Amino acid sequence: MPARLNAVRKTGRVVSRRLLRRNSTAAMRFAESFSRFPVLAGLLGTAIAISMAALSFAALWQGRAQALQNAHFASANLVATLSADIARNVEASDLSLRTIVSGVQNPAVMALPPDLRKLVVFDGATGMNYVGGAFVMNREGRIVLERDPSQHADLLFDDRDYFKIHAGQRDAGLFISGPYASRLRKGVTSLAMSRRIDAPDGSFAGVAVIALNVAYFDSLLSRVNVGRSGSVFIVQQDGVMIARKPALRPDEAGYVAKSPSFALMKDAPSGSYISSSPIDGVRRLYTFQRVPGTHLIAAVAPAENDVLAAWRQRGIVIGGLTLMFGGGFVIISWLLAISLRSRAIAQEKLQRLAGTDALTGLCNRRALDRRLDEEWRRARRADQPLSALFVDVDYFKLYNDTYGHAMGDDALTTVADCIQNSAKRPGDIVARYGGEEFVVVLPGTAANGAFTFAERLRLKVEGLAIANSAAPKGVLTISIGCATTSPRLADNALKLLNGADSALYLAKRAGRNRAIHENSVASGGA
Ligand code: GH3
Ligand code: MG
Ligand code: MG
Repeated sequence: MPARLNAVRKTGRVVSRRLLRRNSTAAMRFAESFSRFPVLAGLLGTAIAISMAALSFAALWQGRAQALQNAHFASANLVATLSADIARNVEASDLSLRTIVSGVQNPAVMALPPDLRKLVVFDGATGMNYVGGAFVMNREGRIVLERDPSQHADLLFDDRDYFKIHAGQRDAGLFISGPYASRLRKGVTSLAMSRRIDAPDGSFAGVAVIALNVAYFDSLLSRVNVGRSGSVFIVQQDGVMIARKPALRPDEAGYVAKSPSFALMKDAPSGSYISSSPIDGVRRLYTFQRVPGTHLIAAVAPAENDVLAAWRQRGIVIGGLTLMFGGGFVIISWLLAISLRSRAIAQEKLQRLAGTDALTGLCNRRALDRRLDEEWRRARRADQPLSALFVDVDYFKLYNDTYGHAMGDDALTTVADCIQNSAKRPGDIVARYGGEEFVVVLPGTAANGAFTFAERLRLKVEGLAIANSAAPKGVLTISIGCATTSPRLADNALKLLNGADSALYLAKRAGRNRAIHENSVASGGA
């Protein structure tokens, strides 16, 4: 049993090793074909780097939008809290104003002793923080009842906006005035919340007023953190600034109403926008909300630079690294592409050299074997004849002996050029077979054509008139053996070459400087 298990394990290991080898050869084959297109490698590397960089920058851009949105949400929450606080105070003050009005209109209350009357008319709410005073004014604008006796003054308040509104308008309801410098409290900036007091016949009988110190708004805003260059403010619908953090200089106060972006804020119940401040030119993210039941607008505006500071820092690091790595990737891709290209060029050159004869520049035996095999298969597919010529220089030993080896080399090169220039068709192969022997392969050429070619070549070489004084003819000549076959029937290319070689032997025997086709021998002709 353990033996069988061992065998199974061994078989498993063999199979996985074989799979591994098959995969690695497939990978190598892929890498090999990839290396043939070096520019593609460079372009692909560049495209990958650009895509990665694009993804990274898209993510960064999304991060920016996210940072702005988060700031907007935070601002919206702050504005809602501010608005709710102000609304609660206004509501409490309005309740107190209603109590004052109904108290003043009630003859029973008015008939009470002054101390008790004051307690009934000015309830607890008027004692809230930042309420600077609570008054009842008569129809002339003089204070007739006040929360604090110290504030009683024989002054006329008929010039105040709230007094004019209530005197002229029965249904003004709760009116909140613009900021003014208090006459009773040493110029403290205040807002007046007021309600009209009607006489029993409905005519104007006076005004109930609660004065709210603007310091209330300042203390409210002081608790809000809006960053280094942000701002938070309470502004009236007509653009008059009630409170702002950081505080405005007196000469800056008028800018808000005139700013085009304020128009966006003026009439909407709530909203947000990004704009440059008309006061200090800082670009801010404004989020605002109208305080319910009032003409006040609470706005929080962190500076865009503050909101995006962390994102910018992250962006510089990530963007810088992305550019650096991406650039590196592109450079490496192109270096690889260049090296692949020079390797391919060197390989091609080496391959050419490996198949080239050094003296004549013709194909050598190795290249002949390869190309003859290709032409053989092509001829078989196309069912076409294939001819081969074996060319041998006559009496070449004598030439060498007479003129020396160097001259012999030159003569061989001249003959080689002559053969090469004679075989010009695309598939023609001219190779140096060895020594002073050459092979010419003529695809698609029948016996007659091959013989005619050989005869013409022989005459051409003779026509070169290269002196070979020791030879019977006095010039360099060649003998040629030709053979033709139809690759479909014959066995292989070697047999074709052997046929040509035999014909060459016969040409030599017949006296040299001639061409013989093996077919003509077989049929008895020459
Ligand atoms: P045949 O007419 O029977 O062919 O006589 P041959 O002298 O040409 O033939 P043989 O085979 O006796 O001699 C061939 C000579 O070719 C011998 C050799 O010195 C010479 N040879 C072979 N290769 C080269 C070469 O590369 N350069 C030179 N200069 N001579 C070569
Ligand atoms: Mg020879
Ligand atoms: Mg020879």
